Amino acid sequence: VSGAAVTGDTEEQAADAALRPKRLAEFVGQPKVRDQLSLVLAAARMREAAPDHILLSGPPGLGKTTLSMIIANELRVPIRITSGPAIQHAGDLAAILSSLADGEVLFVDEIHRMSRPAEEMLYMAMEDFRVDVIVGKGPGATAIPLELPPFTLVGATTRSGLLPAPLRDRFGFTAHLEFYDAADLEHVVNRSARLLGVRIVAEAAKELAGRSRGTPRIVNRLLRRVRDYAEVKADGTVTLEIARAALDVYEVDERGLDRLDRAVLHALLKLFGGGPVGLSTLAVAVGEESETVEEVAEPFLVREGLLARTPRGRIATAAAWAHFGLSAP
Ligand code: ATP
Repeated sequence: VSGAAVTGDTEEQAADAALRPKRLAEFVGQPKVRDQLSLVLAAARMREAAPDHILLSGPPGLGKTTLSMIIANELRVPIRITSGPAIQHAGDLAAILSSLADGEVLFVDEIHRMSRPAEEMLYMAMEDFRVDVIVGKGPGATAIPLELPPFTLVGATTRSGLLPAPLRDRFGFTAHLEFYDAADLEHVVNRSARLLGVRIVAEAAKELAGRSRGTPRIVNRLLRRVRDYAEVKADGTVTLEIARAALDVYEVDERGLDRLDRAVLHALLKLFGGGPVGLSTLAVAVGEESETVEEVAEPFLVREGLLARTPRGRIATAAAWAHFGLSAP
């Protein structure tokens, strides 16, 4: 199932809401992040104060939005959700900040994509819980200071290296989310099947886990597609045979590579003889932004040992040639 075809549809949003763990204890995998975060939250609860600002970094679909909601839920405070691209003017940010409740969590997804002026306003808000609102233009402009209630900023980014240092330094805690291993994803898919009332046999759950690109959002999506197939073509039970047949229909590859992953590898092998080739050239060849190739496709391909980043450019590994049934030159 290619990302673009099903991202952001209403079915996915509804399923996301139904399947999101609400407590830290229900959050599967990421043991390091869970341990660290539970300390931060416990300490804040003991002090009855808002915890330090928290940065969550990692590829899409690994649970950043879910964790931000868990943080608010565990602290029993409300949460406001927005994203970097939605905050283009400093005024947009001032409006949000000044309407926060005491202790509220402000979740800013894709925080690296905020505009410069908004970012600068955010520095002051994070540090001093205060912003200066500029009224008027030119020599007559005046800064009106505005006190803010204490709040916790939870920022999400695909890579913390994309953030300017002054912003990165104002977070008291950074959690790096890693791709999930197959056992964790099996756990996620079994949990989701239980919540959705889908009967799935253990081998089928394992198969879905192995083809989900290390990503809970994808394993949940595959479960829904496989359920469709099982209901239409059989009695609704997801057996291994049904799971495999459905995954073939949706062209999910045995390693779980998605359309972009395959396009990147294909270009690398077919157009550039396996590399080395520069990131921007590779991105143009697949018709994507360099940032998307670098932040979304490459982390998984590198982890799978299919692609390597070298000082001279990207190269395909022997495993990549083998995956496409080709022999390396
Ligand atoms: P993006 O940055 O693209 O918004 P994300 O990292 O915020 O992605 P989420 O929206 O939080 O990802 O998670 C996607 C889906 O995966 C959610 O519906 C949630 O049910 C599920 N999920 C994510 N992490 C876990 C987890 N650790 N345990 C169980 N389910 C999870």
